[in-house]
Amino acid sequence: MIVVGAGIIGCSVARELARRKLRVLVLDRQEPGKEASWAAAGMLTPAAESAEALPLVHLARASFALYNEFVRQVEQTTGRTIDYRRDGALEVFFGEGAEERRAAWMALFRDSAFQPKPLDAVELRRMEPALAADAAAGALLTDEGAVDNRQLSAAVAEAAQREGAELRTGVEVARIDCESGRTKGIETRQGRISAKHVVMAAGSYSTQIRGAERYAPTIPARGQMVALRPASRSFGMPVRRVVRGPAYLVPRADGRLLVGATVEYAGFEKAVTPGGIGRLLTDAVRMIPELAAAPIVETWSGLRPDTPDHLPVLGPVDVEGLWFATGHFRNGILLAPATARALGEWITEGKTSLPVEPFSAMRFANRAQTVAR
Ligand SMILES: Cc1cc2nc3c(=O)[nH]c(=O)nc-3n(C[C@H](O)[C@H](O)[C@H](O)COP(=O)(O)OP(=O)(O)OC[C@H]3O[C@@H](n4cnc5c(N)ncnc54)[C@H](O)[C@@H]3O)c2cc1C
Repeated sequence: MIVVGAGIIGCSVARELARRKLRVLVLDRQEPGKEASWAAAGMLTPAAESAEALPLVHLARASFALYNEFVRQVEQTTGRTIDYRRDGALEVFFGEGAEERRAAWMALFRDSAFQPKPLDAVELRRMEPALAADAAAGALLTDEGAVDNRQLSAAVAEAAQREGAELRTGVEVARIDCESGRTKGIETRQGRISAKHVVMAAGSYSTQIRGAERYAPTIPARGQMVALRPASRSFGMPVRRVVRGPAYLVPRADGRLLVGATVEYAGFEKAVTPGGIGRLLTDAVRMIPELAAAPIVETWSGLRPDTPDHLPVLGPVDVEGLWFATGHFRNGILLAPATARALGEWITEGKTSLPVEPFSAMRFANRAQTVAR
């Protein structure tokens, strides 16, 4: 069994398959977990962030429910400690019209199991005293958390290997090898590797692998990020939990405060730009004025694996032995445990108990066929 890609998704799937006693070889052209899984903010947000993310909610909730156990097991297998918290998130609306904007945002949750708790300006300031004076309306989402995705991705890669998976880096996969509707393996720049099963988990780059693009036409969505180190000043970390407004702020146990993120369609270009980073800094200071004095410690960007309908591509296709686990766009860190469970069940039991119907890996190939006719 070959897994292509050693990001959080490929490594979580490999770990699950190894735990189910399959022989697993994970291939990556670089060190594991150094693409989107490294660049992310690590928010665990099972509630839909927009109307188009609504189909994700059931799977996202299932994944959030698996998270405690997932992190605990990975920590136990590797002996590592992962910065992981489940203390909710605040959505904050600033300035004029804040209450109307909150009402429009709350409407997203009308039919959902998530009921954000509305907060007025006084309650908001009690929870987060450093907020700007015009933080006028807000809401608390209790079922949320955050994880240090760099720590987690590295730990899951190690856990997969400790469970028996083999990881080979420096291997660039060029093509899926199939014959008469069956998977035969993959072709790399260095030669062929045979396998009866291949799981494609190459993130944004899935679309560049021949034979994968018709099922997973992934589109890179660049996200620029900045890290500040406010804890180096006497007042300490100015927010206690994830706070979202014009930007989002994610506190880390190591004293960094992450500010994110742009969403840009700039091809595979991973530069950070004055426009992108400048806007994030302006938004962060707009939310928490004292951040104006916080040292900037890092800037970076990464490519979210988006798809034409912004939903993941999961499961089997019309080529026997070929599986997909990609296109997780803005939620791959959150969705890793459920994706791994779903692929593990599918591959070893023939079906999955998880709510994956909207994410069929055949949907783009089917649409292309219909258009061609
Ligand atoms: C700025 C930013 C913020 C984000 N914030 C969040 C968040 O708060 N919460 C959340 O849940 N998600 C977030 N995400 C999304 C999340 O990071 C992704 O959905 C997730 O990391 C996707 O994981 P992956 O393993 O599929 O892809 P990747 O991590 O990109 O891994 C793909 C792997 O495939 C390898 N690869 C590619 N092509 C080949 C090839 N031809 N041969 C061999 N190997 C190959 C790559 O080297 C890479 O290691 C964010 C993303 C970004 C960029």
